[in-house]
Amino acid sequence: MPVLDEFDLIDRFFAGHAGGGDVIVGIGDDAAVVAAREPVVIAVDTLVGGVHFPPDLAPHAIGYRSLAVNLSDLAAMGARPRWATLALTLPEADENWLAAFAAGFLDLAQRHDVALIGGDTTRGPLTITVQAIGTAPGGRTLQRGGGAAGDDVYVTGTLGDSAAAIAILAREGARWTPAEEAVVDRFRYPRPRVAAGLALLDCASAAIDVSDGLIADLGHLCSRSDCGAELDLDRLPLSPALRSVCPPQQAEAYALGGGDDYELCFTAPPGCATAVDAALAATATIGTRVGRLIDGDAVICRRAGKVVPVTASGYRHF
Ligand code: ADP
Ligand code: MG
Repeated sequence: MPVLDEFDLIDRFFAGHAGGGDVIVGIGDDAAVVAAREPVVIAVDTLVGGVHFPPDLAPHAIGYRSLAVNLSDLAAMGARPRWATLALTLPEADENWLAAFAAGFLDLAQRHDVALIGGDTTRGPLTITVQAIGTAPGGRTLQRGGGAAGDDVYVTGTLGDSAAAIAILAREGARWTPAEEAVVDRFRYPRPRVAAGLALLDCASAAIDVSDGLIADLGHLCSRSDCGAELDLDRLPLSPALRSVCPPQQAEAYALGGGDDYELCFTAPPGCATAVDAALAATATIGTRVGRLIDGDAVICRRAGKVVPVTASGYRHF
C-alpha cells in the first residue's frame, strides 16, 4: 500500500476483526491463512462509485452493501460464509467516511460470523472489491445447472424494490414518503439470503441470486440447466411499498428487469414442494412459486394464462 500514508486508519477501522477459530493469520501479514475443514466456495464482486451505487450514498450503506452482494453469491451456492477480504480504492482518506464504511461492513460481517482477514488500500476513483469465502456443508453446493424441465421456479422475498429505489435516489431534492424510504432501504441494505440458501441445499435443484433482474438471472439459470422457463406474472411478489410508489405496470417492469434485489431464484421438483416450504419456514423466509422450467431455451411470461411479450433484459455492463 504505497500510495496512502494514512495506513493507520485501516489499522484502526479494520484490524481486530479477524476473530473466529479458523483464522490462523489475519490482517497484518502479507497474506491471510485460514483452516478450511470443508470444500471452499469463493465469490468476488466489485462495486464502482457512480456505476453500482450513487457516489453520495451513505458510506455505512456502501460498506454494508459491498459485503452483502458477495454474501448473496455465497447464499445462492448454499454456502456458509466464513471469511472476507476487502480491496478499497478511495479518492481520499476521509476519516469519517471510512469509519462509517467500516461500521456498515463490519455490522453485516458480524451478523454472519464472517471474519475480515485482509485486503488492500489504494488511492483512486471510489471502487470497492470484496471477496467472500465460505465453506460447503458436507461438500454440497447449489448450482445454476441443476434444474430440469418440470421443476417449479421460486423466488424469495419481493422483487423490484431496488430498481424503484435507484429512480428515487436519482431524483433531486424531493422529500421521501415512508413508502419511498422503505423502498430505498431495500437498495441500501439488501438482506443476503444465507440461511435460506443453506436450508435449500436439501431440496432445491438449482439456484441463482437476482442481481441483474429476474428475467436475466432466471435466463442464466435456464441456460446452465439447458431448459426454458415460464413465469406467471400474476404471481410476482411485489412489496406493498413498491406498489404504492409506482403504477402496477412499472412495478412489474422493475420486478422483471431491475437488478440489485439480491433475492434467491431457485428451482425444485414439484415432489419437493413440502420440503421447500419447510426449508423456507425454518429460516423465516417468504418464498413464492412464480413459474416452472420447461423444454426449450426461452423465458416466457404469462398473464392470466396468456403469453405476453416482455422486453426486460436485465442490467448489462457493456
Ligand atoms: P502488502 O504491501 O503486503 O500488500 P498492505 O500494506 O497492502 O500489505 O497491507 C498490510 C496488511 O493490511 C495486510 O495484511 C492487508 O491484508 C491488510 N489490509 C490492507 N488494506 C486493507 C483493507 N482495506 N481491509 C482489510 N485489511 C487490509
Ligand atoms: Mg497490499
